[in-house]
Amino acid sequence: MKPRMTSRISRPSPFTAAMAVLMIVVLGCAATAGAALNLVSLDQEWGMRNDLRSQVSQQARVIDSSYLNTVGRRIASQTPLGNRRWDFAVVQDKTVNAFNLPGGLVYVNSGLIAEADTLSELAGVLAHEIGHGSARHGTQLMTRAYGYNAIAGLLLGRNPGQGKQIAAQLLGTGILTNYSRNAELEADRLGVRYTYAAGYDPDGMVDFYGEMLDMRRRQPSKVEQFFASHPLTETRIQTIQAEASRLPRRSSLTNDTNNFQRFRSQFR
Ligand SMILES: [Zn+2]
Repeated sequence: MKPRMTSRISRPSPFTAAMAVLMIVVLGCAATAGAALNLVSLDQEWGMRNDLRSQVSQQARVIDSSYLNTVGRRIASQTPLGNRRWDFAVVQDKTVNAFNLPGGLVYVNSGLIAEADTLSELAGVLAHEIGHGSARHGTQLMTRAYGYNAIAGLLLGRNPGQGKQIAAQLLGTGILTNYSRNAELEADRLGVRYTYAAGYDPDGMVDFYGEMLDMRRRQPSKVEQFFASHPLTETRIQTIQAEASRLPRRSSLTNDTNNFQRFRSQFR
């Protein structure tokens, strides 16, 4: 039996055909300009966290801190990934640095805590790293570096012990923290929003970054690592300031607390 439907369907006019092609091109560009490709699922990402954590602990002196976890989790709970586990820890290191690893892991050097004058400054730094985590910049970089086949091989059906090797490799190459300028700006933007939503003064991030610029003039070696992973400029700080000033003022925002100053005094 011949399908009778076909005779009733009119052929697309050249105009509609052209529109369809245009739509595909426009949508294609939108997809490219949007979120970067990520082939690691959230469950796979959170499945990597234990291997990553033990790898960091082998390479650095990591101190668990319930205070840092309280502040960090309060900010992380404002993100779309707030229902997953996040862990925050101090790295005993006098230089100023902080970094995020896949699976909700955030590390802050003791040197950074010592240089943060107020709780809102520390909150700003944590929120920036949480921004990298919630935007999943680390696993995007993994996807770019390894491609689909490698990722599938890395994460699916791996044998015990292989995860540790992968974690060592990822940390050794520095792939996970080599963010693009756009990723940095996105982490700033998200960070400002998250600090504010968590009830911390978003100007803390602006203040801390300003102090980092000053410190680069006075003690460049102390902030070298920080600047390598967070290329800071006056313009970038102004952008964050503008972002923060657009948020409605709230008198209840926390700038500093005695608890923070007690916590900080351990590292000075
Ligand atoms: Zn960053």
